[in-house]
Amino acid sequence: AKDLGKNRYSFYESEFTEKAEYRFQVEQHLREAVEQRQITLVYQPQIDIASGEIIGVEALSRWYHPQLGHVSPIDFIKIAEQIGLIKPLTEWILQTVCDQMAVWNSEGFSDIHTAVNISPDHFLDKGLVSLITETLETKGIAFDKLELEVTESTVQTNAQNLSAFERLKDLGISVAIDDFGTGYSSFSSLKHMNVDILKIDKSFIDDILTDEKTQVLVGSMIKMGHNLGYKIIAEGIESHAQLQLLQRLQCDIGQGYLFSKPVTAKEISTILGSSY
Ligand code: C2E
Ligand code: CA
Ligand code: CA
Ligand code: CA
Repeated sequence: AKDLGKNRYSFYESEFTEKAEYRFQVEQHLREAVEQRQITLVYQPQIDIASGEIIGVEALSRWYHPQLGHVSPIDFIKIAEQIGLIKPLTEWILQTVCDQMAVWNSEGFSDIHTAVNISPDHFLDKGLVSLITETLETKGIAFDKLELEVTESTVQTNAQNLSAFERLKDLGISVAIDDFGTGYSSFSSLKHMNVDILKIDKSFIDDILTDEKTQVLVGSMIKMGHNLGYKIIAEGIESHAQLQLLQRLQCDIGQGYLFSKPVTAKEISTILGSSY
């Protein structure tokens, strides 16, 4: 038993060293990746559940590095936040998204919105709202075609500077609470965050068919959200049965592999073109 314990210890130790080494590598290459535009965007359709139409897309970052391979955004976004790269990265993402919306507009697909994920610290940055409005204006994109996704932790980060919500609302830029229900104080965040959309986290959708409690919770979130005037998105829909249930619960919008994985901008054009 002693030996086993020892082996276990060294197993964890080497796993730890490997993780630290990986993190170090990611950090080393990330700066270069942001500067050299190695990060690309894919887009995942958002579907109006009642009509089945695509009403928007969410932009998601991808990074392929020759030595590291595909690095998950969960890893590199967190590191970008920690080493001060999230602002330049998000600035580039906003510009790229606006350029892409201009292309979709020119192809006749001007109705869809694009959602961009904004990190909590960056959302409360004084310059963010002007960065967004300047980018939209420069690229000639209507304000109501951009959506921002922020998590509940945005409130905890800095409760003082929440005026960004009011300013964005005045400008007609919608804001969604991402991963709704996973924070420690989802009710309190509703009180403090003036938003338009609740995006119910995938972890709820995963269990919605098998766990009655989850089903009741999701139903309640949708009802409560509607009573407060929000639109409700469900993320991570993978099966027809999940979709049918969400439809019954009056969920407005769906996103997930059932409809489409995140795909290139070109593929979005193809999907939009074939659905008319
Ligand atoms: P998120 O914002 O909650 O994005 C949804 C994630 O779920 C995406 O993973 C998406 O590919 C995945 N997904 C969507 N539908 C399904 C489904 O039906 N089944 C399964 N299994 N997965 C599904 P992804 O692209 O790996 O992104 C992970 C997270 O990284 C995002 O979670 C977001 O928090 C962050 N992220 C990605 N791109 C950006 C970005 O440009 N900026 C910021 N700040 N964060 C980003
Ligand atoms: Ca998101
Ligand atoms: Ca989400
Ligand atoms: Ca999520």
